[in-house]
Amino acid sequence: MEDCIFCKIVKGDIPSTKVYEDDKVLAFKDINPAAPVHVLVVTKKHYPTFMDVPESELEIVSHVHKVIQQIAKDTGISEGGFRVVNNCGEQGGQEVKHIHYHVLGGRNLTWPPG
Ligand code: 5GP
Ligand code: ZN
Repeated sequence: MEDCIFCKIVKGDIPSTKVYEDDKVLAFKDINPAAPVHVLVVTKKHYPTFMDVPESELEIVSHVHKVIQQIAKDTGISEGGFRVVNNCGEQGGQEVKHIHYHVLGGRNLTWPPG
């Protein structure tokens, strides 16, 4: 997708601080962190939102889950606890229209979010 920021990050056209990469997924630090650890996990394939992953491709979601487990261990947030967030669509507060999971930790997180 030509105008998608996260596709550009995946291609390396926009720099990012990478935390994890494989053939299906890239994880990098959020440019405007909301917590001491704030990593974005994106699929390399462009899906605009959570709702756009077809049933036949849902194995990517379990792969993302596994990657997040690894990131939580590597960044040291697995013991204290952390949060995984997907913002979907306008009322969900999604700004970048390329599916991504926020991984937040390193401080006490309040609930519910705003
Ligand atoms: P959303 O509101 O779409 O769920 O979250 C988008 C996130 O992407 C925000 O937390 C924002 O700080 C982050 N972000 C937007 N542009 C960039 C960028 O160019 N680089 C990085 N590393 N993060 C970005
Ligand atoms: Zn994209």
